[in-house]
Amino acid sequence: MAKRLEQLAGIPVAHLKGVGAKTQRGLEVIGVHTVLDLLTYYPRRYLDRTKEARIRELRPGEEAVVLVEVQKTVARRSRTGKVLVTAEVSDGSSSLRLTFFNQPWRERQLRKGMSALVFGKLEIFQGWRQMTNPVVDLVGDKTRRIIPVYPQSEKAGIMTWDIAKLMEEVLDRVGSFAEPVDPAVLRRFGFVDRTTAFFDIHRPESMAAVQEARRRLVFDELLRVQLELVRRKRELERTTVGIRHDAMGLLGAEGLPGRDFLVGRFHERLPFPLTRAQHRAIREIAADMAGPHPMHRLLQGDVGAGKTIVAVTAMLVAVQSGHQAALMAPTEVLAEQHYLGMKDMLTGLTVPDTADGTLFADQAIERELNVALLTNRTSASERRRLLIGLADGSVDLVIGTHALIQEGIEFRSLGLVVIDEQHRFGVEQRAALRQKSAGVAVPDVLVMTATPIPRTAAMTVYGDLDVSVLDELPPGRTPIETRWVRSEAEQHDMWRHVRSEISAGRQAYVVTPLIEESDRLQVASAEETFARLTGDGGELCGLKVGLLHGRVSPAEKEQTMSLFRSGALDVLIATTVIEVGVDVPNATVMVILDADRFGIAQLHQLRGRVGRGGHRSYCYVVADPAGDDGELRASAVARLEAMVKTTDGFELAEIDLDLRGEGTIMGERQKGRNDLKLASLRRDREWVAKAREVAFEILDADPMLERHPMLAAEIDVLLGDEQAAEFLLKS
Ligand code: ADP
Ligand code: MG
Repeated sequence: MAKRLEQLAGIPVAHLKGVGAKTQRGLEVIGVHTVLDLLTYYPRRYLDRTKEARIRELRPGEEAVVLVEVQKTVARRSRTGKVLVTAEVSDGSSSLRLTFFNQPWRERQLRKGMSALVFGKLEIFQGWRQMTNPVVDLVGDKTRRIIPVYPQSEKAGIMTWDIAKLMEEVLDRVGSFAEPVDPAVLRRFGFVDRTTAFFDIHRPESMAAVQEARRRLVFDELLRVQLELVRRKRELERTTVGIRHDAMGLLGAEGLPGRDFLVGRFHERLPFPLTRAQHRAIREIAADMAGPHPMHRLLQGDVGAGKTIVAVTAMLVAVQSGHQAALMAPTEVLAEQHYLGMKDMLTGLTVPDTADGTLFADQAIERELNVALLTNRTSASERRRLLIGLADGSVDLVIGTHALIQEGIEFRSLGLVVIDEQHRFGVEQRAALRQKSAGVAVPDVLVMTATPIPRTAAMTVYGDLDVSVLDELPPGRTPIETRWVRSEAEQHDMWRHVRSEISAGRQAYVVTPLIEESDRLQVASAEETFARLTGDGGELCGLKVGLLHGRVSPAEKEQTMSLFRSGALDVLIATTVIEVGVDVPNATVMVILDADRFGIAQLHQLRGRVGRGGHRSYCYVVADPAGDDGELRASAVARLEAMVKTTDGFELAEIDLDLRGEGTIMGERQKGRNDLKLASLRRDREWVAKAREVAFEILDADPMLERHPMLAAEIDVLLGDEQAAEFLLKS
């Protein structure tokens, strides 16, 4: 009988022949508890014995696999205290010396008489044929042409041949796997069946078979994840009651907006037309808000794309429908800045005053739209007044930090929650804010992020949200010119340029290095930079310079920010506290010192602090390839080159994904175990979108997966309740 994955998940590996107590403990260490865990413990790579060579036939510089027997192994300590292990091996045609630096355990691993497959480059050293730090695999089975190499664990005492042996037994006993995917889907993509896939990934006859097996198993992993995400999304839509907001005038079809068309009045006063991307995002949001289900949408847009206006529009849709809206920002600086900006944008706009009990908006007197700020710095009396206003509905929009989700805050009717820079907030906080409304209906939620992530990654990381993208910058922006400053002389020119921008009335930021994990060092370096640049003979000597870092008190921080905003300061020297959202259009130069210490996303965020007004703007990334830290790492060079090459956040996100792998992108949201063992959001981009397409097809026809019981069961075991919750909801 063909086996189903959930059955295999119920069989402990301890039931297999040849698994004693010691092996079992080792397997547990590497996370293999059940037969299913073992089957999904995939080879790291394969040794293709069809490419095997004889030592004697190898020429210097040539790379090859050789099958050898170990003759003798010695460990020595070099003069500098490093351990050097050398092993003499032979394949009958000739002998070969293997040299390992800093791998003392090789002495124990390579014992006389053992067989090993060795992959490396042949060198001639002191007359010896030699390979330095080759890849070594001790082989159990010498009959297969292609040998799978499993991740091994020295610590757990589990070697690749242990796994290979168990895998043989498991595959023989299972015989065949049940097929959960519709034949039509398999045909559409030309996939092998599941039995073939599992056999060929572990016991391939050719490397081509491995590729086909991998393709199929990757698809299965991605399909399970997408089914789960889409199922949750659909379930949320089915089971919660939302507010049907009045989005008239935004959706086109309903005719002319009335006099209380607040959004229209707001848009009329803007000094610029909205971009096409802004219009599109607003339409998408308005359609969600007018619909019966709570909105759950992500607004992605590069820095400076104009997300704020989209968010304010959404907030006004809530207000013109008789509800309130809240915006939660991750820091006080940001909340205060949003508050000031929005208050400015909205002054003079009026709404019908229904707080006195007037039932009909068209009979009410107009009052000014009421925008409020709530942070931990709000005074107690101010806070008391604000809470009353939130509860009786006389406060229309509130902007704040975490303080918004504290005890005791209740809204008369919260219609929309906007979360800025969503990666800084957990889902719990999002949910907590959503529950602040007195009504039964669930408020709409709009999350905004300025950290572009590639589309396919977004489908997985934010797969339970709908996504709107602002993929266009407002017109008239001159692109920020980015220069990589390497030498002292170039630095000199850079500071001269900073001074000339300041004489022309502009302002500048100088960001000091982030020194990993150490807040204190970062502060020290900001203070040191401040002293060096502003001291006698310093590059910024005589200018008005402010200093901002994590240890500055909130009051002082706000004071410095407002001095800089008002133009009273020429230069702001800061740590990454200014990374997100800070908006001072008159600032035109961003200097990032030791830029090699920053990741692409951070550099891009920092650069986004300039180029926000009509003036031409510049970003200097300073990193000396031959500085005192020695050479820059290749990845740092690639990051800086990417920054110089493009200002497009989505392009940078793709480069970042290539440079760092998906772990970091998934990181925050996908801690712990998950089902993506083979699939890579980077390598398998195209399959993410295809799997999502298939997931929608399946769930649209069969919402509860009643006709796909095997898929449902697989999702449960592989993305089991706890794991799925963690994977999907932690953000
Ligand atoms: P972000 O997406 O980074 O939050 P903001 O909403 O802060 O961007 O907008 C950046 C700047 O662009 C602001 O000064 C804003 O007033 C301006 N802006 C927004 N939309 C437009 C537009 N359609 N045309 C011109 N300027 C715009
Ligand atoms: Mg913003």
